[in-house]
Amino acid sequence: MPTYTAPIRDFQFALKEWLEIGQYQGNVPGFDDLDILDPILDEGARFCQEVLFPLNQVGDAEGLKYENGNVTLPTGFKDAYRQYVESGWASFACDAEFGGQNLPNVLNTPLIEMICSSNLSFGLIPGLTHGAYSALHLFGTQEQKQTYLPKMISGEWTGVMCLTEPQAGTDLGLITTKAVPNRDGSYAITGTKIFISCGEHDAVDNIVHLILARLPDAPKGVKGISLFVASKYLVNTDGSLGERNAIQCGSIEHKMGIHASPTCVMNYEGAKAWLVGEPHKGLRAMFTMMNEARLLVGIQGLGIGEIAYQNALAYAKERLQGRALRGALLPNKPADPITAHPDVRRMLLTQRAFAEGGRILALWMALHVDLAHRHPDETVRREADEFVQLLTPVTKAYLTSGGTETASIGMQVLGGYGFIREYGMEQYLRDCRITEIYEGTNGVQALDLVGRKLPMHTGRLLRRFFHPVSQFIEENRDVPEMAEFTKPLYQAFRSLQQASLWVAQKGLANPDEAAGASVDYLNLFAHVTLGYIWARTAKIALAKQEGDEKAFYQRKLATARFYMHKLLPRHYSLLATLTSGVKHLELAETD
Ligand SMILES: Cc1cc2nc3c(=O)[nH]c(=O)nc-3n(C[C@H](O)[C@H](O)[C@H](O)COP(=O)(O)OP(=O)(O)OC[C@H]3O[C@@H](n4cnc5c(N)ncnc54)[C@H](O)[C@@H]3O)c2cc1C
Repeated sequence: MPTYTAPIRDFQFALKEWLEIGQYQGNVPGFDDLDILDPILDEGARFCQEVLFPLNQVGDAEGLKYENGNVTLPTGFKDAYRQYVESGWASFACDAEFGGQNLPNVLNTPLIEMICSSNLSFGLIPGLTHGAYSALHLFGTQEQKQTYLPKMISGEWTGVMCLTEPQAGTDLGLITTKAVPNRDGSYAITGTKIFISCGEHDAVDNIVHLILARLPDAPKGVKGISLFVASKYLVNTDGSLGERNAIQCGSIEHKMGIHASPTCVMNYEGAKAWLVGEPHKGLRAMFTMMNEARLLVGIQGLGIGEIAYQNALAYAKERLQGRALRGALLPNKPADPITAHPDVRRMLLTQRAFAEGGRILALWMALHVDLAHRHPDETVRREADEFVQLLTPVTKAYLTSGGTETASIGMQVLGGYGFIREYGMEQYLRDCRITEIYEGTNGVQALDLVGRKLPMHTGRLLRRFFHPVSQFIEENRDVPEMAEFTKPLYQAFRSLQQASLWVAQKGLANPDEAAGASVDYLNLFAHVTLGYIWARTAKIALAKQEGDEKAFYQRKLATARFYMHKLLPRHYSLLATLTSGVKHLELAETD
C-alpha cells in the first residue's frame, strides 16, 4: 500500500530560504503575517494525509456512477469536499470583497501540491472552480460577480470551464456552440461540449459554467468567440436557487486515469446564460486567466512526481535483491537493499531532482503571479508579469511530462510490483498522463514559447530569465566551491542562448523551423531553469553543511551535484537535435 507524507520541511526551504518570502513582509499586500505559513502547512498536510489520501485508491477502483444525467462521486468524496470547504481552504486565495481571505497564491501553492499528491481526481474540483472564479473575477460585471463569486468562494457552488467540442480541441476557432440573445439581456446557449471536467457531480447544489460560444453575427474563427456564464440552477435575485437550467450531462467518459473525476459530455439546450466581457473577445478572456490554470496543471504533475518519488524511495530502502558490487552491505541478510545498485540510485535521484527542483519552480512562479498582481511598484508588477508569461509554458510542460516520467521511474524502481494495482504506482502513472494533454497540450505549450513569448516585445521577456541566471553565474564564478555548479550552468546557458538565436533567426525565414524545434527548445529551457534552481540551492546548502539539519543540506548538495552532472548535460543533445532542422521531420510520400 502506498503512503504519503507531506514534504513540509521542503516547502519551508523553498519558501523561506530559496525565495526568501520574508523580504515581502510589510511591503506587499497580503504578505503581512507570514507566521501563518507553518500552521497552514501543518493543517493542509493533515487534511491531505488523513482525509484525501485514503480515498485515492478507493476512487480509482470504484469510479463514478452515471444515471439519468446525474453523477455520483465515489465513496467518501462528498464528505471530503465538505471538510475541505469547512476548513476554509476554498476561500484562501480569493478576493476579500466577495468573502475570500485574500492570501497570496504562493502560500496556497503547497496545499495545491499536497492535494494533487494525495488525490488528483479530488483536486480537479477546487482547481476548476478556481479557474472559473478567476475568469469571472477578471471579466464579469459587478452584478455577475455578486451573483456567483461569494458562493464559489465559500465552496457551496463549484465551477467548470467549457471550451472543448468534438471538432474543436486545440483549435478553438472551430467552436460551433451558439448563443442567441433573449429579450431580457440574457442569451440562449445551444450546443454540446465534451470532456468537461466536473461538469456534473453530487458534491454541491449548483455548478457554474463558463462557456465559449458564438453570437449570431460572430466572425469565423477565434475572433468570433464569446464567453458566457450559466449555472445548473438559475439564481433568483435574492441569491436563492431557482429553476433548473437547460444544462444536462449526456454521459461520462471511461478513461485511462483520474477515475474519480467526472469527464462529462454537456448538452446545452437553450440554456440561459449571460455574456462575460465583450462580444467576440471570449478567447482573449480565457487566455488572460490561462497562465494561472496552466501553472495549476503543472502542479498536478509535480504532486504526482512527489508521491511517486516518496514511495519508490521507501520501497527501494526495504527491497533486498542482489549484492552491492563493492561487497555486501548487509552480510547477515540474504541480499542488499536495491539502493546499493547505482542504476536504482540514478532513478531515485532523477525523481528527487524533479520533485524538489520542480517544487521551487512552481513556488517561484506562484510568487511572481502574486507580485504581478499585488506589488505597489508598477515596474515590479510588469516585470513579474513578463516572467510569468515567459515561464508558464515551460512550467506547465516540464512539470507535467516530468511528473509522468517520475511516476514511470517509480514503477521501474518497484519492478513487477510497480505494475500491480495494490502498490499504487500504476495509478500515479495513469493519473498523470492527462496533465500533458489538457489545458493546452505540451506541444502547444512549446509553440506558445517559441511563437508568442520569444518574439514578444522584441525578446524583452527572455531577459526576465536570462538576467538573473547570468547575474548568478557572474557573482559566483570566482567562488571555488561553486565551480562544480556554475561551470555546467554556464555551458547549458550558452546552449540556450545559441538555441534562442537559432530559433529566432530560422523562425523568421521559415516558421516551420521554429515550430519543428519548439519541443526541444522548451526542454532545453526547462533544463537550464532547473540548473539555475539547483545551483542556487547548492549555494544555500554549502553554507549550512554543519548544524542540526546537516543531513537535510547534505542531501540538497548531493542532489544538486547529481542534477548538474547527470541531467543538465542533456542540453548538448537538445541543442544538436533542435538545430538539425525541420527537414528531418518529414513523413514518407507513401504514408
Ligand atoms: C480527462 C480530460 C479532461 C478535460 N477537461 C476539460 C475541461 O474541463 N474543459 C474543456 O474545455 N476541455 C477539457 N478537456 C479537453 C482537453 O483540453 C483537450 O483534449 C485538449 O485541449 C486537446 O484537444 P484534442 O483532444 O481535440 O486534441 P487535438 O487538438 O486534436 O490534438 C491532437 C494532437 O495534435 C496536436 N496539435 C493540434 N493542433 C496543433 C497545432 N496547431 N500545432 C501543433 N500540434 C497540434 C496536439 O498537440 C495533439 O498532440 C479535457 C480532456 C480530457 C481527456
